[in-house]
Amino acid sequence: FDDIQHPVCVGLEAFGSGRALPRSSGLPDDVFETDGQITKRPIRALTLSALAPKPGEHLWDIGGGSGSIGIEWLLSHDSVTATAVEPRADRAERIRRNADALGVDRLNVVQGEAPGALAGLPMPDVVFVGGGLSVALLEWLKAYLPSGARLVANAVTLESEALLAVWHEKFGGDLMRIELANAAPLGPRRGWKAAYPVVQWSVTL
Ligand code: SAH
Repeated sequence: FDDIQHPVCVGLEAFGSGRALPRSSGLPDDVFETDGQITKRPIRALTLSALAPKPGEHLWDIGGGSGSIGIEWLLSHDSVTATAVEPRADRAERIRRNADALGVDRLNVVQGEAPGALAGLPMPDVVFVGGGLSVALLEWLKAYLPSGARLVANAVTLESEALLAVWHEKFGGDLMRIELANAAPLGPRRGWKAAYPVVQWSVTL
């Protein structure tokens, strides 16, 4: 029994020199390599909560960006799977690097534009739209996703927000506006620096 370590002796250092990551969604932004296109930590945590990954489920992360949503989805359970769809080659490569670095090399990365690039992919249980939101994309998803599929879409621009307002009226679900502000220097004192509001539509099709 010489090689059995007493539990009280096993600290974080027992797992090597790497950085310890929390199990909760909403990892620090700086664990991801990014060119700035990333869903920031608090919005990401709310988004993962809305996506609500369950064992065995498959996600499409449309508008992969830096890959943070698909990666946190995969970190939730060993049995979930995900495909990230991203048109820009540099970003698709970055998603691959982030997934590999964070231990979820099972992330499938498809370089292409939605909705065209979705045809032929294995059908998902859950879809996240973080980029490329359009009437054509929503119509494609409505036409082809199995009924019971869950959809979460985040919008930042007025145009995409207006689209979500129309679809929420037609198909129901929850429409939430997230407004966050962080304390930041304002002259010699501090003020609330507001982030762009994010409108999030969550619906079961
Ligand atoms: N959720 C991502 C950030 C998304 S940024 C993250 O946390 O890292 C939005 C992304 O959508 C951009 O990278 C952009 O290239 C991509 N995009 C734009 N149009 C698209 C389309 N039609 N299909 C798929 N992705 C698209």
